[in-house]
Amino acid sequence: MSLRVGVIGTGAIGQEHIRRLSKKLVGAEVVAVNDINKEGALKFLDNEALNARFIDSPHDLINAADVDAIVVTSWGPSHEEFVLASIAAGKPVFCEKPLATTAEGCYRIVEAEMKAGKKLVQVGFMRRYDQGYKQLKAALTSGQFGAPLMVHCAHRNPSVPDAYVGDMPITDTFVHEIDVLRWLLDDDYVSVQVVASKNTKYANPNLKDPILVLLETKSGIRINGEIFVNCKYGYDIQCEVVAEEGVVSLPEPSSLLIRQHEKLSTNIMNDWKLRFIDSYDVELQAWINDTKAGKMTGPSAWDGYFTAVTSDACIEAKNSGKIVAITTPPTPAFYL
Ligand code: NAP
Repeated sequence: MSLRVGVIGTGAIGQEHIRRLSKKLVGAEVVAVNDINKEGALKFLDNEALNARFIDSPHDLINAADVDAIVVTSWGPSHEEFVLASIAAGKPVFCEKPLATTAEGCYRIVEAEMKAGKKLVQVGFMRRYDQGYKQLKAALTSGQFGAPLMVHCAHRNPSVPDAYVGDMPITDTFVHEIDVLRWLLDDDYVSVQVVASKNTKYANPNLKDPILVLLETKSGIRINGEIFVNCKYGYDIQCEVVAEEGVVSLPEPSSLLIRQHEKLSTNIMNDWKLRFIDSYDVELQAWINDTKAGKMTGPSAWDGYFTAVTSDACIEAKNSGKIVAITTPPTPAFYL
């Protein structure tokens, strides 16, 4: 039987996830949607010839008898409320990042889920489902390279809109590295320092760009992460792990190698959506399968909480120029 999904938020990524769930993936159907922009949502359903009905209240959608599971793709500040309501209804919920906009909000979700006694929450950290990162993780866990010692990584965007300012390099951009590197290394972070480099002339006046984030893990691994969101040349994700017996790097996305006019060239992507398009499919298919099997294995509410605490520490480090400790309670047995 199909998993009957209700989606809250029919904006950019909501529409993409609805198309995926309805037309691409197997085992699910979108039966209901909600958005504060009703007109836009109805237009989208009509354009896509989808049968889902519009429900005026997100809480009515969550509690609808024919909705088995929820996808939350509304704007960040509304996530906590909808995830808590889904847990209260005893329904599995896939929530796009951030799980909540504060670490305290994420922790309230962790507590509610533990009280419910069953894992119901998956957070939309899709990089864990990227083929390249999966290969990198498999290589590291094989033991072939010994222990990881250092990680050099970079997150580069060609440009960002004018509204991208302040702490957004951390909260909107580096947040993906925070989650995926912790998963890759299977190690928690203990401290962070953030250093700004000479600003590019292309950054708007309220943005430090590029910056370097220096993370330290519990076992002593050092990570240096470059965030450069006006790099001009393309969307480029790099990750190199230096281990005791070798260096392993994230593969480049597949692209033709061209020999022409006395040049050897290849393309670099310029759109993050294309770079991770396959990961979103794999991520949501895994969520459907896990939800139907009643066993959640994806990024958990605890992962969402740990990322929020780390992100807060990065912001404090950026603003103070100091090395900031990253402290959380021990991982509850519920999440091990
Ligand atoms: P978006 O285009 O602005 O879409 C958000 C939608 O939710 C809009 O239609 C908005 O309506 C609606 N909305 C806002 N508050 C609501 C509420 N209280 N109840 C119901 N609907 C509400 O944003 P987006 O780019 O799709 O991003 C949505 C979320 O996904 C964000 O948290 C973002 O960080 C996350 N995201 C994750 C990734 C990833 O790589 N994992 C990528 C993109 C986005 P209005 O337009 O009328 O405000």
